[in-house]
Amino acid sequence: MKHDPEHKPALLVSACLLGQPVRYDGASKGLPATLRDTLAAHFRLLVICPEVAGGLPTPRPPAELSGGDGHAVLQQEASVRTASGADVSAAFVAGAQQALQLAQQQHCRLALLKANSPSCGNRQVYSGRFDGQLLAGQGVTAALLSAHGITVYNETQLAQLLPLPD
Ligand code: SF4
Repeated sequence: MKHDPEHKPALLVSACLLGQPVRYDGASKGLPATLRDTLAAHFRLLVICPEVAGGLPTPRPPAELSGGDGHAVLQQEASVRTASGADVSAAFVAGAQQALQLAQQQHCRLALLKANSPSCGNRQVYSGRFDGQLLAGQGVTAALLSAHGITVYNETQLAQLLPLPD
């Protein structure tokens, strides 16, 4: 097993949580600098925005899961669509695959992903009706990582990541 020189565990992190302006609206959702520093002190951070990695531009039209959550999208039983109905599933799946590849290459078993995103949400996602309603379910990247044994947290669950478990 490959370790970095400091023996920190790897943590895959949503780029927007680290302040990168990669969200659909061109903004970020950066965590406070002190928290980012704490994460970097404990983990080897692997930073990715799956939607950008999948080939989508920034800014881009907002998209929501339609007909099921990310697991259903991966089974081709649901889709990711913009409000005008454009199917952007392929880019979301491609980005999820890149995130998984990065995690696996780096022997990463943990992820910290942005809550409620159609890619990164680990517990809830928007309804697909663009009405602001959240439903239980995972985004496409969170679903793929979870299906491969990677534990996904969101930014409201930091207490479960820090301090590090023994
Ligand atoms: S796909 Fe994930 S990392 Fe990229 S902007 Fe959306 S929530 Fe952030």
